[in-house]
Amino acid sequence: MISLAQISKSYDNVQAVQPLDLTFEAGATTVLIGPSGCGKSTLLRLVTGLATPDSGTITIDGQVLAANSLPALRRRMGYVIQDGGLFPHLTARDNIALMADHLGQTNSDIDARLQELAGLCHFPPDLLGRYPLELSGGQRQRVALMRALMLDPDILLLDEPLGALDPLIRADLQQDLRDIFRSLGKTVILVTHDMHEAAFFADRLVLMHDGQIVQAGTTDDLLHRPADPFVTRFINAQRRDFDGGAA
Ligand code: ADP
Repeated sequence: MISLAQISKSYDNVQAVQPLDLTFEAGATTVLIGPSGCGKSTLLRLVTGLATPDSGTITIDGQVLAANSLPALRRRMGYVIQDGGLFPHLTARDNIALMADHLGQTNSDIDARLQELAGLCHFPPDLLGRYPLELSGGQRQRVALMRALMLDPDILLLDEPLGALDPLIRADLQQDLRDIFRSLGKTVILVTHDMHEAAFFADRLVLMHDGQIVQAGTTDDLLHRPADPFVTRFINAQRRDFDGGAA
C-alpha cells in the first residue's frame, strides 16, 4: 500500500532519517517505535507530504508522492498528532467538518457523518458545539480522531496520539482506537516510544534508532528473535520501568 524506497531526510547537521526502504501493508497497523529523536515523527511527516525527502521515492497505492499528486493523496490520509492540533477558535463540530465544508458537502451529509463518527469514537454528540478548551484531553483526542476520519481516508497516520493523556484515559482510548482500526480495516501507521502501547496495537513493529531501522517484525520477533542487541536493550529498559511501576 505504502512503500518507501531509499528515503532520507536531514535537518541542518542532523540526519533525521538515513536512507531506508520500508513497506506498510494495506489494512494493517504498523507501529513506528524507538527512543526520542530516532526519526519516527520525521518518517511519518514524510509519508504525509508535510516534509519532503532529500532522496528516495514514496509510493502510495502505485502513485508516487510528488507536488502534483499530493493534494489527492492527502485526502486519502487522516493525520492525528499528540495534542490533537485542533483549531482553538473553532468548535469540535467545525474542526471535524472543516475539510468537508471546504469540499462543498451539504450540511445534512456532514451532520449524518458527524453522528456516525460520534458513535464510532464514543464522543457525546451534545458536546460537538464546544470549543477545544471546553473539552478534556481525552475528548479532544476523540475529536482529532473524528476529524481524521471525516473523509473516510484509507490511511490513518497517528503521531503519539495518546502521549499527553493520563493513564486511565489513555487505556480507554487505546482500547477504542484498536477497535476502530480493526473494524474499519484502515492502513494505520502509529508512532509511539512506549513498547507496551506498540505491542498492544501492532500487527507489525518497526524499531528505529538514529534514523535507521533496527528491526521490523512482530512483537514476538522483537522479543524472541532480536536482530541486534539494541532491540533487547530497548525492550528491557521499558520492562524495568514497567516492573518498577508495578512493584
Ligand atoms: P522522534 O519522532 O523519533 O522523536 P524526530 O523525527 O522528531 O524523532 O526527530 C529526529 C531528529 O531530527 C531529531 O534530532 C530532531 O531534533 C530532528 N528534527 C526533526 N524535525 C526537525 C526540524 N523541523 N528542524 C530541525 N531538526 C529537526
